[in-house]
Amino acid sequence: MNKGVLDNKSFSEARCVVVKIGSSLLVDNETGSLRRSWLEALAEDIERCRKRSQDVIIVSSGAIALGRRYLNMKSGDLRLEEKQAAAAAGMVRLAHAYQECFEPHDLSVAQILLTRDDSENRRRYLNARSTLITLLGVGAIPLINENDTVATEEIRFGDNDRLAARVAVMVSADLLVLLSDTDGLYDGDPKTNSDVKLITDVTEVTGEIEKMAGVAASNDSSGGMVTKLAAAKQCLGSGCSMVITKGQHMKPLLALENGAKCTWFRSVGNPQSARKNWIAGTLQPCGTFVIDKGAVSALKAGCSLLPAGVSGVDGSFQRGDTILIQTMEGEEIGRGLTAYSSDDVRLIMGHNTDDILTLLGYRGRDEIIHRDDLAMN
Ligand code: GLU
Repeated sequence: MNKGVLDNKSFSEARCVVVKIGSSLLVDNETGSLRRSWLEALAEDIERCRKRSQDVIIVSSGAIALGRRYLNMKSGDLRLEEKQAAAAAGMVRLAHAYQECFEPHDLSVAQILLTRDDSENRRRYLNARSTLITLLGVGAIPLINENDTVATEEIRFGDNDRLAARVAVMVSADLLVLLSDTDGLYDGDPKTNSDVKLITDVTEVTGEIEKMAGVAASNDSSGGMVTKLAAAKQCLGSGCSMVITKGQHMKPLLALENGAKCTWFRSVGNPQSARKNWIAGTLQPCGTFVIDKGAVSALKAGCSLLPAGVSGVDGSFQRGDTILIQTMEGEEIGRGLTAYSSDDVRLIMGHNTDDILTLLGYRGRDEIIHRDDLAMN
């Protein structure tokens, strides 16, 4: 299913949901300890989503907040290296807490730590993406945080709002839920003005909307409303909807389903069509595949491109590059992202998928271009 537009009631219909959890929800502000009963209740929320076959990814903050207390660090602002040290200690505890709270619900948690570079360097992006997709395929819950211990200022996201948006785009999720310490975006500062109005629906992050964020910033660790709007922009540009809602009370996802206050950033398209538009329109092709008649019919019928259907290759390219697809008569019929480099394609073209291991010495994907990575003309 993908209606493109999701609302509170159809939250339950999202195919793949990324849930971002802020530090202030997980870690008690006064004592610095983990809010275990909140996390246990969240596990029930997630179990409900999994039971209706929704893929769920969690992007969780809290490593630094937990670690600084564990290491008895001073209160107040920490230097970068102190944050890195706190994260090293805190991440173990954070992941362990998730594992303990989720296991009774038969939910397997798998930790992935990312830096901004992992989402910008193509090779690493592709690797991170396939690990995530593989984990979802086996029904696990990826638990993601920034790799704070190695992320220096220049390569940091610094906030998990934008990291969560990047992850949502990476896996073509159709919904990102930001669980926060605020109900959503207000047209003024709700802390100082009782007369402010909650903005319930946004379809475009305009200058006017951005102005509201300036005054409505929450004290939610390093995020605040400004980074939430940056996350919304990323999501909307990729066909993913986003919702901001308060997360402090027990089972915030159930509350959202039942109509809790929130701000929706509604995407008009869906992630699959956005990805295909991006492949079709914005990338510079790096090579050409000439494919046989059988493959032309298969692709037109919505199938992937297999090695057996490729009869010629032109250009020098890497895995993940955009390639033009041509018929034997020279007609361009589409373009797609290749799963193999030009050297590897030259070795496997014309062969059966089963021969890939023998020909290349490793077992890559069955398809040279997967249908999700293909945009036909
Ligand atoms: N990665 C940080 C942590 O786990 C949090 C970043 C954020 O709060 O946005 O402590």
